[in-house]
Amino acid sequence: MMEKISVIKGDIAYLPFHVDAIVNAANSALVPGGGVDGAINKKAGPDLGRAMLKFGGTPTGTVVYTPAFDLNADYVIHAVGPRYQDGEHGEAELLATAYQSIMKLAQKLEVNSLAIPFLSTGVYGYPLEEAINIAMENVKKFNLDARIYFVAFDESTEKIAKKRL
Ligand code: ADP
Repeated sequence: MMEKISVIKGDIAYLPFHVDAIVNAANSALVPGGGVDGAINKKAGPDLGRAMLKFGGTPTGTVVYTPAFDLNADYVIHAVGPRYQDGEHGEAELLATAYQSIMKLAQKLEVNSLAIPFLSTGVYGYPLEEAINIAMENVKKFNLDARIYFVAFDESTEKIAKKRL
């Protein structure tokens, strides 16, 4: 079976349905931050931040996972996307690697459904269209047998992502 990929608009911490795993846009220190990370931690409760602590020093492009606590999910996959500088510091490769790492871990965890934000496009400043292209390309080509929801936080992101899909 081919994976089914869709784009939805909303808050990834408050999806109106259960998913097996929610992807967090984490930082390398695995210290709860803002954006997706802040929203996820607020909803999950303080146990999530405590669980994240032991993964401090997770390299950019890689992932770790924890339980999802009070989120409507089984796992949180914490993915560390690159901070965008000028595009000449391996950002595209690191972002692609982050999505590949997510898909490999999702396969290992045997998830049937997965919600993914657009990594690095907030505080980390990655140009939106290029980041969406990298996200879609790398998730599609993995061909995981699972339902995949890209979660766009605003209308313009949703529009671009749906067009690219
Ligand atoms: P990063 O630090 O990797 O850039 P951010 O969390 O700052 O991560 O932003 C990543 C993307 O997620 C941005 O496009 C941002 O608008 C969006 N975003 C922020 N909060 C949420 C949320 N609660 N649910 C879904 N997407 C969100």
